[in-house]
Amino acid sequence: MSAPLPSDPATDPSFPDMLETRPSLKMDARDGLLFEGVPLHVIAAAVGTPCWITGAETLRRRAKALRAAFEARNLPMNMHFAMKSQDHQATLIILRQCGYGVDIVSGGEMQRALHAGIQPSGIVFSGVGKSDAELRAAVEHDIAQVNVESVEELYRLDEIARACGRVARAALRVNPDVDADTHDKISTGRAGDKFGIEHRRAVALYGEAASLKNVRLVGLAVHLGSQMLTAGPFREGYLRLADMVREIRAAGHSVEAVDCGGGLGIRYRDEIAPSPDMLAGVIAETLGDLDVRLSIEPGRWLSAPTGLLLTRVIETKAGNPDFVVLDAAMNDLARPSLYESWHGIMPVAPSGLTSPTKLWDIVGPVCESSDIFARDRALPADTKRGDLTALLDTGAYGSVMSSTYNSRPFAVQVLIDNGKWEIIRQRQSVEDLIAAETVPKWLTAKDDHG
Ligand SMILES: *Cc1c(COP(=O)(O)O)cnc(C)c1O
Repeated sequence: MSAPLPSDPATDPSFPDMLETRPSLKMDARDGLLFEGVPLHVIAAAVGTPCWITGAETLRRRAKALRAAFEARNLPMNMHFAMKSQDHQATLIILRQCGYGVDIVSGGEMQRALHAGIQPSGIVFSGVGKSDAELRAAVEHDIAQVNVESVEELYRLDEIARACGRVARAALRVNPDVDADTHDKISTGRAGDKFGIEHRRAVALYGEAASLKNVRLVGLAVHLGSQMLTAGPFREGYLRLADMVREIRAAGHSVEAVDCGGGLGIRYRDEIAPSPDMLAGVIAETLGDLDVRLSIEPGRWLSAPTGLLLTRVIETKAGNPDFVVLDAAMNDLARPSLYESWHGIMPVAPSGLTSPTKLWDIVGPVCESSDIFARDRALPADTKRGDLTALLDTGAYGSVMSSTYNSRPFAVQVLIDNGKWEIIRQRQSVEDLIAAETVPKWLTAKDDHG
């Protein structure tokens, strides 16, 4: 369960706790908060705030650790990064260099992945509503696999592949009706969630699909939910999947591949984060002896800890409660207002670690009551206008969910890599926003003629 927005000051981790569990972050006595060794105040001074920071080494370290967990068990595993969590070209290129493919949920993501040099054979297409144009593009590029979410989509894919003169590889995305024990808004594998094909139905459908000429079913896919913290729901879901593989084979059909989805959670607050080894262990135990090609689709676990959102205090507002108003808002980082999610918020100044703290409500400037990052959260009692703060673990579902609500342009993005850093997306300007709009001539004609 993700922690509710009101912090519990009694159990919130302290700043030293937050540092201890995040190897990419250090507090330097002179330079303040460092991310991958680079002082954040230097970046803020150079490019302004709010600013998204991504750490390349953190991403590589996690990509390797996840792969190593499966290698340690001699379990061959295809890795498809769920790029909806973080879709910047730099991120995709780093992961490609680490041997990862991608899990996409739109034609736009496919275009981005191809542009980053990811081979079609490394692309899996998930998602509950793929348009004809998106399916056609997937078929034409001959991507590894389309994870089909409904009977209707299966037949539509067959038709589209026939029109292209191709045979598309597909897997049935099964809804195993398992409660991932996560936030309602990120649960995907329960009966009644919009995702997947009901598991009893899927076995019958697998047989029916054998008669399709332009779709070849290669196996089953599942994605149980997100920010999953314990082995139980994974085990339950994968056991159900394994049963289905046996049933389908018993009916005389071949199952070559099982896609285990994503969902591995991380520590945002004080969660006991599952290890990659836990996931590898559960998959080995439940699916390891089925003689299928296995793959996973991790998003958050890889990308969340690779990012932070650097912001400056616009104003502090005394009252009951006392407010810290940051220059970042829900249009930048939507997760707290969308999922009531808890993000660590750290002072950047070196004194931040030792100053006495008090409880603040930490908000953004957007004109919505839900534009609030945290209630009753400890920050230095002397926090003032101009101070820098860092919102932690924003690398997944952070910049990708930004909007320009309140005419707040997309924030600048910076990549840190081995002590170097560079802007990887310029801050958007308001002129950019206006330039994308057109006005019918008849509206301004009235101005001309009074
Ligand atoms: C979102 C998503 C993922 C990734 O989920 P995480 O919780 O970020 O690991 C994987 N597969 C599918 C189909 C998804 O929709």
